[in-house]
Amino acid sequence: MNLKSIAVYCGSSPGLLPEYATVAEELGKFLAKNSITLVYGGSSVGLMKIVADNVLQGGGKVIGVIPEAIAKKVVHPNLTELHITADMHARKKMMFDLADAFIAMPGGIGTLEEIFEVLTWSQLGFHSKPCAFLNIAGYYHKLFDFLKHSVDHRFVKQEHLDMFQISNTVEGVMDALKTYKPKIFDKWIDRK
Ligand code: AMP
Repeated sequence: MNLKSIAVYCGSSPGLLPEYATVAEELGKFLAKNSITLVYGGSSVGLMKIVADNVLQGGGKVIGVIPEAIAKKVVHPNLTELHITADMHARKKMMFDLADAFIAMPGGIGTLEEIFEVLTWSQLGFHSKPCAFLNIAGYYHKLFDFLKHSVDHRFVKQEHLDMFQISNTVEGVMDALKTYKPKIFDKWIDRK
């Protein structure tokens, strides 16, 4: 799959470990070098800023999409393209439309909400764009354990978990996104 743009969801904080920032820099540089447009939340804070700044410094293109209420506080002053939306729903829809694939780096509730929304749409067959976790320093291991628990308890199908890609390196995540082959599975378990 030829990826022209990728939405990156990540912390509006830098997080505890220095590895988070290091890999955010690597991802930004990789996107610029490979002429892949970054679509992100448009802010000038946390890992979000680090990815965006590294794409821009590498000569790449960054599209920010930010709701009016947040833009007043933390908009990035220097993006290639900036869209200010009325609310969070409009932001997420626009980010979805602009991106060919989605990556979640370490982050908090905002990051989880955004990646789970696109994963939900994926398992329902509303889109077939690849989704991946960049699992830096094992940050998401406990989340994956919980999702495995959801499979054991018959709320999630293993096939749906297998739809999202996981890697702890930038190259690994990019390869997984590029080689992703969409499959549609019936969403519901134990339905008579
Ligand atoms: P969090 O993981 O809770 O830090 O939230 C980060 C994600 O939620 C980002 O991908 C953003 O799209 C959105 N978000 C949360 N807080 C902010 C903020 N202060 N500025 C811009 N976007 C934010």
